[in-house]
Amino acid sequence: MMIDTHCHLSKDDYSNLEEIIHHMDGNIMIVSGADMKMNYEVVELCQKYSNIYGTLGIHPENPEEYTLENKNWIKEQAKNPKIIGIGEIGLDYHYGKENREKQIEIFLDQIELAKSLNLPIIIHSRDADQETFDLLKEHAKGMKFHLHCYSGSAELAKEYLKLGAKFGIGGVVTFKNGRRLQEVVKEVPLTSLLLETDSPYLSPEPFRGHQNEPYNILYVAKKIAEIKEIPFEKVIEQTNQNSISQFDLPIHL
Ligand SMILES: [Zn+2]
Repeated sequence: MMIDTHCHLSKDDYSNLEEIIHHMDGNIMIVSGADMKMNYEVVELCQKYSNIYGTLGIHPENPEEYTLENKNWIKEQAKNPKIIGIGEIGLDYHYGKENREKQIEIFLDQIELAKSLNLPIIIHSRDADQETFDLLKEHAKGMKFHLHCYSGSAELAKEYLKLGAKFGIGGVVTFKNGRRLQEVVKEVPLTSLLLETDSPYLSPEPFRGHQNEPYNILYVAKKIAEIKEIPFEKVIEQTNQNSISQFDLPIHL
């Protein structure tokens, strides 16, 4: 069994959604929301498929969607045992910092929401490494959180380890120019890694440039095994355990 801890499965992106979901029969997917439309789809998928779990949240690129009404909806949905986290949330300055304050405001508010629900948080951080770290250090003490699609340095990763963070590792680790992430995988203990595809984005080699799907988690695990010079089975076994404890998944290995 494999667990893809972070993917987006929307009808808007996949004409063959049923097919790629069935490709994961016997495996687990954690589907992440980023805006309200995706959040609704996450809830639907969780209802329809026993091997799909979900996380709900508002991504920093969509801060205007974090209204009181939507926040209350998320809170209500979180009573569903298949909703196992708040995310993806965080900071994204890739397109500029004009709405920096708003981003921080909704990030912190969703951290508080997760605390009140006793759920882990799934962090998105782009071009905002240090600031994300500083906010988490101050506000996420004692919480379970993981850096989805981690893109920071190995140095920063060591600081994050002190906070108990986990690291979502995806297709980038297989890229020829994925050195920085390969270094992180080498430095961070296997017990702190989670596997993810971030489908439909970031297909691993040998499918780079094509649409990604959760089953490709296989290639991410293979690459981690190669970097750490350990058996593939060991990577799957340990990261499964990590995912189960991170998200309190009701699965017995
Ligand atoms: Zn994502």
